[in-house]
Amino acid sequence: MTEINETGLDRRSFMIASASTAGAAVALLAGSANAQTTSTGSSTAGGSGTVYTGDVVGGKQVISALDVSDLEPGKKHSFYFRGVQMPGGQHWYVSVMVAKGAAPGKRLGLISGVHGDEMNPIRTLQMVMKALDPASMSGTVVAVFDLSRPAIENMGRRWPNSGRGIDLIDINRAFPGNENAPDAPTRHAGLVFNRLLRSNLDYGLDFHTAATGMDATAFHLARMDLPEVRAMAELFPIDQIFDNPAYPGLLANALIDAGIPALTPEIGNPRIFDHEMIAQFVEGTMNVLKHHGIIPGPIGRTGKDTDVFVADGLLPIIATQGGFVELLVELNERVAAGQKVAIQTNTFGEVVAEYTAPVDGEVGARRTDATAEPGTPIVFILFDSADAVGGDVLVE
Ligand SMILES: [Zn+2]
Repeated sequence: MTEINETGLDRRSFMIASASTAGAAVALLAGSANAQTTSTGSSTAGGSGTVYTGDVVGGKQVISALDVSDLEPGKKHSFYFRGVQMPGGQHWYVSVMVAKGAAPGKRLGLISGVHGDEMNPIRTLQMVMKALDPASMSGTVVAVFDLSRPAIENMGRRWPNSGRGIDLIDINRAFPGNENAPDAPTRHAGLVFNRLLRSNLDYGLDFHTAATGMDATAFHLARMDLPEVRAMAELFPIDQIFDNPAYPGLLANALIDAGIPALTPEIGNPRIFDHEMIAQFVEGTMNVLKHHGIIPGPIGRTGKDTDVFVADGLLPIIATQGGFVELLVELNERVAAGQKVAIQTNTFGEVVAEYTAPVDGEVGARRTDATAEPGTPIVFILFDSADAVGGDVLVE
């Protein structure tokens, strides 16, 4: 501080000077004056009324904040939510549908498109929303179909950010986001979280699939230590549940931190519609709606009917070489420790590596691309153990 005074810099100048070299200072400088302007001017706008920008796109009204309490009951409402701005001046619009019941009740959020190469979740939400009749509902369902719009436009997992040349940002490491962050995807996450989700939800389901190049079973990533999360997770007629919080920046974890019980259902393959698996997750979601009293009717098939395997460990088997992978195991297959699960060859067809299961368990995910680099996960083994080994899961 003495040096600063001697050079005649005041505190603000010091912060600006520091910003060119210190990344942390950039965040300090990005004060509210630099935040994306909205009609509400608040970073916690939810609950203070739906804000209509006055724009209409494709016949849908554009909103910059959602408050389901002021929507007409007994109807479905479709909007474009105005997300972060692009360099060209337009905004990324996110497709939102609200089914508001004729009677009050619990509010469930259904989210898809956090990763842009995950199509089964979008179809699942479309089918659930189509099946709902708001006139006979007690409560509200908020569906967000395409949260990471630019990633979806590219059929890519990550948000292509142009701020410092091309960056590919995994927005599911950025929640709850920050409307004043020094990058657009984190701001977008903040806008969606603060103005669309947080004040409108009592419960949340953030649907995903395996990443491109991988396939996975019908499973959940879910915090089974949380009773309200567990109750929802067990209502899906699926194969496996991985009982783990995974990463701090997951949308489901940010919702939980905001007091909204949530989990991450995972619907198999990326990039395609797997109609059989979609049907399992539609049935589970309808069960959750019945469980919370939002729609009437008997509970359908659940995890009890499919003998769901609940496990606390997920161990990736990582390629040690570059080359071509031949898998020796199927999804859901039981494997024993030491069992060979894959071999790898070079371009001459010579075997360069053999991979074995390190633990007893079930195959939860496996590679679908025939090539692998050193470091690429080839097979994920789901196992139940008190000494679960962590790893970079990358399956959500
Ligand atoms: Zn995902």
